[in-house]
Amino acid sequence: MNHLDTGPRKPRREPGKVNLLGFDRGALKAWLAELGEPSFRAVQVIKWIHQRRVLDFERMTDLSKALRVRLAEVAEIRLPRPIFDRTSADGTRKWLLTLEGDNAVETVFIPEPGRGTLCVSSQLGCPLACTFCSTGQQGFERNLTVAEIIGQLLFATQALETDGTARKLTNVVFMGMGEPLANFTSVVRASNLMLDEHAYNLSRRRVTLSTAGIVPALYRLAEVSRISLAVSLHAPNDALRDELVPINRKYPIAALLTACRNYVERTPHHRITWEYVMLDAVNDTDAHARELARLLTGIPSKINLIPFNSFPSTCYRSSPPQRIRCFSEILQRAGYITTVRRARGNDIDGACGQLVGQVRNGMRQLGATEPRLPVVRA
Ligand code: SAH
Repeated sequence: MNHLDTGPRKPRREPGKVNLLGFDRGALKAWLAELGEPSFRAVQVIKWIHQRRVLDFERMTDLSKALRVRLAEVAEIRLPRPIFDRTSADGTRKWLLTLEGDNAVETVFIPEPGRGTLCVSSQLGCPLACTFCSTGQQGFERNLTVAEIIGQLLFATQALETDGTARKLTNVVFMGMGEPLANFTSVVRASNLMLDEHAYNLSRRRVTLSTAGIVPALYRLAEVSRISLAVSLHAPNDALRDELVPINRKYPIAALLTACRNYVERTPHHRITWEYVMLDAVNDTDAHARELARLLTGIPSKINLIPFNSFPSTCYRSSPPQRIRCFSEILQRAGYITTVRRARGNDIDGACGQLVGQVRNGMRQLGATEPRLPVVRA
């Protein structure tokens, strides 16, 4: 385990300078046009920053000397900085990164044979307050900027290059802190960079947005993006989902499924991944499994069962492995590809729902709220 606890440091900010990490290719073209530069410059600059990870304008040698000088005057490339860096016994690595102000978010790298997934945060805290999620219990501070989201990728890519393990980042999931569709514009711009052939060049299958189901934003996403979709369902009926995922009271299951069908119709060969956290005696009976199988009929689907990851103030327990197996078998017999997520990074609090970041701007702290009682359904 490496533990680099250097204490909080503020990122140095040059007053008045534009952080170029905040631009996808379209936005960078528009900004460079204001400086009188042709649009192909945007491709050159994006390549320097995101592919070659050169952050010093002077070294961007295919730009004219005059442009390099101008960029150094008006712009900067400012990455988030690590407050700590921990590696779990299973190889999962978690960074706490400082952002603007005094806040920090968590980014988790999960190595697996043949791939490496970065789990990025999209918000500081989360406004949705799902009852079984520690981030939700913490409250909401603010959206992350494009620079702060893509900065997590750039930072992690750089860190992996130098850690001597030859591990590479091949996939990105928006499954860290926050609800990505509640930070729509910045998340879409950051995902544009993830897919951009001149930046991270990831295929749309390797970039997954996980949402609790903000229905109008799902329709907007279908208009502008083809990234993969994971939906946090967690319950097969509205009565139970209203309790576990409170946003369901605003956007109930029927409306959510219609929006998801619309998304898959516009994205050829796409399957929705349904996330379902396994909560002991809450949502894990055979009857729930059968109800779930009926509910998803006709939608191209994969189901991902997530054993509940515990955190200090919770009253929930994970379903026992045997229960998860039975639940999974019912879904498989009904024809669904069903997987059980292996918990990763538990020993460093890096697993789903354990990310709480570090917030010092008067936000509620984890543990400061009353623990919520689980809803028990027979
Ligand atoms: N807001 C997004 C992304 C959040 S986290 C969403 O709701 O999808 C990614 C996944 O982890 C979600 O499916 C979330 O419901 C799940 N999760 C949250 N807390 C958890 C916990 N304590 N144990 C297991 N999974 C959890």
